[in-house]
Amino acid sequence: MKVIGVLALQGAFLEHANHLKKCLAANDYGVGIDVRIIKTPEELAKCDALIIPGGESTSMSLIAQRTGLYPHLYKFVHNPEKVIWGTCAGLIFLSAQLENENALVKTLGVLKVDVRRNAFGRQAQSFTKECDFSKFIPGCTDFPATFIRAPVVEEILDPIAVKSLYELPMNGKNVVVAAQQDHNILVTSFHPELAENDIRFHDWFIRQFVSI
Ligand code: GLN
Repeated sequence: MKVIGVLALQGAFLEHANHLKKCLAANDYGVGIDVRIIKTPEELAKCDALIIPGGESTSMSLIAQRTGLYPHLYKFVHNPEKVIWGTCAGLIFLSAQLENENALVKTLGVLKVDVRRNAFGRQAQSFTKECDFSKFIPGCTDFPATFIRAPVVEEILDPIAVKSLYELPMNGKNVVVAAQQDHNILVTSFHPELAENDIRFHDWFIRQFVSI
């Protein structure tokens, strides 16, 4: 039995849990998988994988620090035996370096990248773009990726460990909006859990990272 936790301090955790449950209802992954909402160190300790959702990274980091979960999360995400997926604010929270530093966001520092928050502008500049992810998700040529005050990976600090999975053009250059570090850490600037009735990204996550 593998346990996939969704960190539930703040943000879009229910949407992730619902997408994962739809995957489990529609597929046999050849291994028992349980999806759980995670708020405490005791719940976290039982997880094999953890999704850190989108939301607001300053709030997420502050809540983690004030509830005492921060050191447990730190240990968890630095354990190479654990699988991690950070979306949007989750990507920011995992990163080693923030371009537009904010003293309140104490990141978990595991992901060897420099990140720019709110890289595409304000809430009103949010957008959904059909993206061709078929290079890493077989047959997925038209995934509706939603970007909400999304961050981008400005620089990969350790190119041996971190591979870009997908890039978008921005201000005349390409910026990384999906990346993988080693075999166990996935990050996306966008929100696959908001793609209504489209569970292809979550299905790939389970197959690629969890049930192996
Ligand atoms: N801009 C937010 C932050 O800085 C992230 C937005 C999101 O997760 N959709 O945390």
